[in-house]
Amino acid sequence: MVAQNLLVAFLAQLGVISLTLTLSSLIQDRCRGQLSLLNRAASGILFGGAAFLLMNMPGEFVDGFRFDLRIVPLAVAGLIAGPIGAAVAALTASAARLWIGGAGAGLGLIGIGLAFGVAVFGHYRVKHISNRASDVLVFSLLNAGVALLVLFILPANVRAHLEAENIHLTLLILNFLATLIAAIFIRIDQMRRENAQLNELHKQIVSALPDALNVKDLDGHFLSANEATARLMGGQDSASLVGKTDFDFYKQEEASAFWKQEQEFIANPKPVILEQQFERDGQTVWLSTVKAPFLDEAGQIKAIVSHTTDITSRKLLQAELSATQMLLETAMAEMADGLALFDRDGRLLMWNRRYLEFFPYVDPKTCEGRTLAELLTAGVMRGDIQIPPDVSPMAWVDEEVERSQTAKQSDLKLSDERWVSKSTRALENGGWVTLYADISEKKAAVLQLERLASRDGLTELANRRIFDRQLEKAFEASRISGIPLSLLMFDVDYFKSFNDTYGHPAGDDVLRQVARLLQSGCRSDLDLVARYGGEEFAIILSDCSDDIAHDIAVRLVDAVRKLEIEHVTSPKGRVTISVGLALITDDMPDCLRLLKNCDEALYAAKAAGRDKVRAAPSRSIAVARHHR
Ligand code: GH3
Ligand code: MG
Ligand code: MG
Repeated sequence: MVAQNLLVAFLAQLGVISLTLTLSSLIQDRCRGQLSLLNRAASGILFGGAAFLLMNMPGEFVDGFRFDLRIVPLAVAGLIAGPIGAAVAALTASAARLWIGGAGAGLGLIGIGLAFGVAVFGHYRVKHISNRASDVLVFSLLNAGVALLVLFILPANVRAHLEAENIHLTLLILNFLATLIAAIFIRIDQMRRENAQLNELHKQIVSALPDALNVKDLDGHFLSANEATARLMGGQDSASLVGKTDFDFYKQEEASAFWKQEQEFIANPKPVILEQQFERDGQTVWLSTVKAPFLDEAGQIKAIVSHTTDITSRKLLQAELSATQMLLETAMAEMADGLALFDRDGRLLMWNRRYLEFFPYVDPKTCEGRTLAELLTAGVMRGDIQIPPDVSPMAWVDEEVERSQTAKQSDLKLSDERWVSKSTRALENGGWVTLYADISEKKAAVLQLERLASRDGLTELANRRIFDRQLEKAFEASRISGIPLSLLMFDVDYFKSFNDTYGHPAGDDVLRQVARLLQSGCRSDLDLVARYGGEEFAIILSDCSDDIAHDIAVRLVDAVRKLEIEHVTSPKGRVTISVGLALITDDMPDCLRLLKNCDEALYAAKAAGRDKVRAAPSRSIAVARHHR
């Protein structure tokens, strides 16, 4: 019977504590978790009041010994309202206890004071109720200990009596349980409040998002949407969207298209990105939508989450970019010159059609990212690039790459005999761009000009200008090297009378025949045969001793005679030539002396009766030996 009374009293007191905590929770909800000083004090009064209430509804143990759970609200006040709240609660409870009066008032005040101590411990040690269960247990045990401690202050005879009835243990358990239940309640309440705050934060973030974010059920009704979605749909606000569908906002046709899209997504609920174009208020708008399924625990789709971004400006920029690119590509493709752009590592980045025409060995499918060295090596391997025979392909490729990177301009002969002018310009990023222009015609014209400027028109031999230049060069080279140099000068005999007899054109023909003969009698790579003037010719014989030069001269005189060209007004009866020969000697100041010596020798040949070879005086012995 006693136990039953005890249980009823305990539950009733626990009910008061629960009610107090619920009230306190409501106050905290209103204050959004952060209690002001005033609220703390008010909470203190609330918990103190609860203690007062508990004092007035005690349970009864044996022999009129009463008990209550007043220390429980006083202790947990510290967990909610901090030391200040706990102090107010303790003061309120103390005042109430004093007002009640009686013999146990002093004892009651001691208990209240100790409970305040536990509240302060609770505030600092279990601040905001730490996640550590051990702290909550210690807190609850400490508070139960307060009840026990008060017992020890009782007179010894009373205490002995109570101990005999095991009342101290019961008190300990009841206070411990009540404190623990209250602490757990506070903890759960606090977690609920934290979650609510977090939820509110998320809501605000979603609401403030510039992108439209919403969730629809499988029938197309909005379950949740943010403000941006409302703006996008033309709705009043996000709340007004809930329960509505696209059909409430868009034209039938457009809404049906969205519906169809959603049904397809539901059939195959994998996250997708859709980029779509719309007409809104006469303007084109591009929207990018990410759709993701909202799945239940069984993995079944329950709703559709959509995130929509306005990508109009990005699309416009892209369109502008591709238009510019098209323009650039067209310009490059239509360029008369070839163009190739290489990066800092020498890799081909960009090229045009004309570039591929110049270099057919470059494969447009695989050339991107290839280095110039790789492209050139491929060209050499395929035989499309002709490299000088005395250079190794590797060395040539290296040199060509070096030339491309550094040289500003150079000419290149292609395998099909075309000439290309290469102009390279370094780029700021370390790469370079090369332009290739077809200069074949220009090159041919220049070559033709060079030929015209150096050849004699009638005989095709080198002209006087080239002869003079070459003689000077050969003279200097011989001076330096000590290699002998010989000069032959030819003059057609009685040519004036040949012209008079057979006419000028016939004379020209003779000159051409003599020229051909002279040319064929020499080494083309070493000797230079030139028309010196009128019907006079000259041959520069490099690296040729006087004996050999003399032999050559005699052979040529014989050869002309053997042409048997009729010349009736000549005492010889046919066309003949006379030759003067001179050899470079140490005492010659310049090539003019050599020329003069040779001229004198020719004069001597004429004087000796023509159709003869005469050497300059210093070689008279040799000449005598060979003289016919
Ligand atoms: P010699 O044996 O002393 O050399 O007698 P020559 O008649 O050859 O005398 P000369 O050297 O003075 O005569 C040169 C002649 O060569 C004069 C000119 O009619 C002729 N001649 C010079 N240039 C040309 C030419 O281009 N074509 C033709 N057909 N005759 C030329
Ligand atoms: Mg002459
Ligand atoms: Mg002559």
